[in-house]
Amino acid sequence: MDGLSNETQAAIAGREQAGGSLASPLWATTAFSSADPGDAARAAGSTRPQRFYTRYGNPTINAFEEAVAALEGAESALAFGSGMGAIASTVMALCSQGDHIVAQRQLYGGTLFFLQTVCPRFGIEVSLVDATQPGAFREAVRPGRTMLVLAETPANPRLGVSDLEEIGSIRGPFTVVDSTFATPMVQRPLQFGVSLVLHSATKAIGGHNDATLGVIAGERDLVDAVWGYATLHGSVASPFDSWNALRGIRTLGVRIERMSSTALAIARFLESHPAVMSVSYPGLESHP
Ligand SMILES: *Cc1c(COP(=O)(O)O)cnc(C)c1O
Repeated sequence: MDGLSNETQAAIAGREQAGGSLASPLWATTAFSSADPGDAARAAGSTRPQRFYTRYGNPTINAFEEAVAALEGAESALAFGSGMGAIASTVMALCSQGDHIVAQRQLYGGTLFFLQTVCPRFGIEVSLVDATQPGAFREAVRPGRTMLVLAETPANPRLGVSDLEEIGSIRGPFTVVDSTFATPMVQRPLQFGVSLVLHSATKAIGGHNDATLGVIAGERDLVDAVWGYATLHGSVASPFDSWNALRGIRTLGVRIERMSSTALAIARFLESHPAVMSVSYPGLESHP
């Protein structure tokens, strides 16, 4: 996929799973037959078996994951039943009692609620920083204690932007960027050195209001480790929603272009309107 434009990758990525079919088949199945009991036992004990049991993996979910991995320039991707499934499973997979998380104050409401209510119950301490201030993440990291730095840029809903170069240069803790609003058409956080990029694919990646889905992408070892926890948590993606979202990815390039130009036109109109006090949109010259 290297050397192809984002738009071309979006149009064709994930086809390897399709057995010659241009469109991905929908594998609406919970389980797969095994040649013999030894085969089943080997699949049960292996990492990310594709044809064993759908909570462990499924060819349609894998096709969606492959497409996201290609677009993010990642070794591997893993889908979840929702964006919150991706966030909760990633945090619980990587953090233990006594660990510390640095996150930004401007976050999707569900993520903030999870960090403030669930993490303390498990003895995971959370510090919230103003991510629009240079150095804020780095200064809040406690060497040896901070396990995870969690950023969201542009942030939902006020579109605060944080510095991917700064987040990517932090060494020690895992760094995770929720890139839902940008999609891989606009930014690829892994290029800046962050450990994992995360999306609610329910939003622009799916794009048709017919898939509730989350996804992470990054180095294979790390994604496999999150998978090991996620299969136990049961935050598995639905094959049907993965199929819908893969279809959504085919048009992601043109949709993002149009969404961005329409949003900019609305932002410019509102900014010039006498009844509007302020407008926050990263495409405006007035955005910090
Ligand atoms: C919607 C959203 C989520 C949560 O995703 P769900 O698919 O609704 O669980 C997480 N992060 C951001 C930035 C979102 O917009």
